Amino acid sequence: MPSLSVIVPLFNELESLPELLDRLYAAMREKELHDLFEKPFSFEVIMVDDGSTDGSPEMIGNLIQEKPELRLISFQRNFGKTAALSAGFMAASGEYVCTIDADLQDDPFAIRTMLKKLQEGYDLVSGWKQERRDPFSKIFPSKIFNLVTRLFTGITIHDFNCGLKVYRRNVSSRLELHGEMHRYIPVLADWMGFRIAEVPVPHSARKFGNSKFGSSRFFAGLFDFLSVLFITRYLRRPMHFFGMAGLVSFVSGFLISLYVTFDKVLLHKPIGNRPILFLGILLLILGVQLFSTGLLGELFITSMAKGTPFAIRETRNLGETQKKLLENR
Ligand code: UDP
Ligand code: MG
Repeated sequence: MPSLSVIVPLFNELESLPELLDRLYAAMREKELHDLFEKPFSFEVIMVDDGSTDGSPEMIGNLIQEKPELRLISFQRNFGKTAALSAGFMAASGEYVCTIDADLQDDPFAIRTMLKKLQEGYDLVSGWKQERRDPFSKIFPSKIFNLVTRLFTGITIHDFNCGLKVYRRNVSSRLELHGEMHRYIPVLADWMGFRIAEVPVPHSARKFGNSKFGSSRFFAGLFDFLSVLFITRYLRRPMHFFGMAGLVSFVSGFLISLYVTFDKVLLHKPIGNRPILFLGILLLILGVQLFSTGLLGELFITSMAKGTPFAIRETRNLGETQKKLLENR
């Protein structure tokens, strides 16, 4: 079992790879890092190629000859960063697990500081890009995203979506991610009861290529946020949400219908063209629908929840057990 598994999700980052691995390996050789471990330090680097078409997996394949710590998981097509991280988490066998972006924006030498923090008694340490080197069009939405997430979850970290994170393996292996939920890993980890800390990390501008996330991330982020809120509050009790909403709607609809029935039956008023009649009917139907949704949810949670599906083209240098785990996904 290696002391540390480094997971690198990458999508068309060919130009960055040589420098990334040089710096990462240099960071892994630091004595201060080794001193954090009682046993002799060892590591593995799990490169998760998320369907690159620029020759990234081929280059990694060649590098494996001279770097036995390297492993490669190569997806059939681009499944997104969340899927890439999930594959890495499944394959990681280290005592600790760390993730780092491939685009040289994250500093591998910060891993040591984060591990040190982790060993103070935390389960997940997230990086904080305190001085962020990104265009304003990225920094501004991200500030709002972090503010909203902080407000709704009560988790007091500044930077939920930093590529640099360090985990105890029992944390990373337990994360069930889908959509683009990598943005909300601290929220899900906190919900599972893990202790979370944050340390400032250096950040660099992107050196090669472009950001892999366009403006569609806003919508994906919003929907994932709603899912995360729902998951962390109602995952095992959907009826508490839908049942309550359904009940409120149904009872309101029932009272309204009762009222117009009185008008019709006792006062002999015509009710066929009264808006409130339609409101009453609408609320009754909506109530039943919400209630049924809750019931379906209750039935559904009895079956196993699955994470983001992915298909793997090939794996290199992985143990049999890890391969089986990945294939059975
Ligand atoms: N990435 C990935 N799959 C994707 C998009 C991104 O594996 O579909 C990787 C990407 O190669 C990089 C990391 O995730 O290593 C962060 O992506 P990027 O730098 O584009 O995000 P940004 O820094 O702009 O938020
Ligand atoms: Mg980046």
